Amino acid sequence: MSIKNEKKGSLFIISGPSGAGKTSLLSEIIKRDQATEQKLTLSISYTTRPPRKGEIDGVNYFFVSQEEFQAMQTKQEFLESALVHEYHYGTNKKWVEQQLCQQKKDIVLEIDVQGAMQIIQSDMKCCAIFIFPPSFEILKKRLTDRQTDTSESIKTRLENASQEMKLGKNFDYGITNDDYETSLHKIQQAMQCYRDMQVNTP
Ligand code: 5GP
Repeated sequence: MSIKNEKKGSLFIISGPSGAGKTSLLSEIIKRDQATEQKLTLSISYTTRPPRKGEIDGVNYFFVSQEEFQAMQTKQEFLESALVHEYHYGTNKKWVEQQLCQQKKDIVLEIDVQGAMQIIQSDMKCCAIFIFPPSFEILKKRLTDRQTDTSESIKTRLENASQEMKLGKNFDYGITNDDYETSLHKIQQAMQCYRDMQVNTP
């Protein structure tokens, strides 16, 4: 089955540096969508990262061993994959194909910039949205305040952020997340624009 030619749902990518706020924005978008239109389904990624406190296997991620991830990679089961801050992350290609082509659902991927670039540079149609932090200082504060990462990990994430932000220009939309409600509104607008384009383009 060709994902390119038979795609029926729309594929959205939300990406940006760690700490830009993509997870909280996206979970609110999904929550609001579920309460209203129920158009959007979030892809659950595979990762070799160990679960954080409160994270559930199959809900937040599919937590797999290095060997399991490697085996999936060898069998080309990922639509995209990346090594992010020392752990592997990947999107299940077959699941995305099924949801888009058979279930005709709109799928959203919350993935890092390397993975997003793999899809943007492929021949797959998607709407890619980049979330920028308002400033480097605010990014640092957010990463520190959320208390999920060690200071070493925060340092790595900040170093990566400046490189990642240079790639923002390759995305369809860039949204600076300085006001939560405004950012939500802009993401919803971008998604609606893309859907309208899909419907109206012969
Ligand atoms: P965290 O470990 O904080 O949950 O995620 C670290 C980074 O990995 C985040 O930027 C997140 O968006 C990204 N990520 C999560 N799932 C995937 C995936 O399937 N592919 C890629 N490339 N990145 C992912």
